[in-house]
Amino acid sequence: VTCVSTTAHIALGSNLGDRRAILTDALAQIARLPATAVVSVSAFIETKPVGPGPQGDYLNAAAELLTDLNAAELLAALLAIERSHGRDRAREQRWGARRLDLDLLLFGDVVIDAPGLTVPHPRMHERAFVLEPLASIAPNAVHPRLGISVAAMAGVVVHAAV
Ligand code: AMP
Repeated sequence: VTCVSTTAHIALGSNLGDRRAILTDALAQIARLPATAVVSVSAFIETKPVGPGPQGDYLNAAAELLTDLNAAELLAALLAIERSHGRDRAREQRWGARRLDLDLLLFGDVVIDAPGLTVPHPRMHERAFVLEPLASIAPNAVHPRLGISVAAMAGVVVHAAV
């Protein structure tokens, strides 16, 4: 049996309910996934919502995982954890409030363009609320499409916002 462990990075967000408890619980659920370890977790940061209507501020975080799952298996597991927190993707607006949002950002140096699975996450490089926590735990991780580090991407976002 050959096991291929991959370092993966995910983003977590919540803007409904007890956000801190939801993120903490989601991380515990991820740590219980088969053949998966949570290597590090960023601080939880408070961010302003991007999207329509009045909605509460987000609590966002990033985590580094080491897993023997493949990218599709890991995303399926993350979506199941989202659903366990009562998120119903079919009923909510794309950018609406949510109890738990989990995104697969990076899966080693893998590039995937499949229906339902795009890796690296297609919007990660333009989102400060993803890059800031990610840069705090994985500054040297490289985006395999853009060929630049997370620290460099985070710097670009910061300069663009000034
Ligand atoms: P969103 O509402 O933006 O969180 O969209 C989530 C949907 O995008 C899920 O149903 C996934 O099937 C799909 N998806 C594709 N690639 C990814 C990814 N890298 N991370 C999370 N969701 C993804």
